[in-house]
Amino acid sequence: MKCAVCNQRIETTFLNKLLGTVIKDSKGKKKGVCSSCQKKHADKNDLLKKIK
Ligand SMILES: [Zn+2]
Repeated sequence: MKCAVCNQRIETTFLNKLLGTVIKDSKGKKKGVCSSCQKKHADKNDLLKKIK
């Protein structure tokens, strides 16, 4: 899965867990966000604005 903010591939752990988060956009689509973008945009509404 790619990060919806920076478009980088989101790394996964050996258990195939995403190193980041998955949030739903305004249309209810699931979007992946990498951990560094998650840190940059701690507020979820701020994060949603950054997603294309
Ligand atoms: Zn990112």
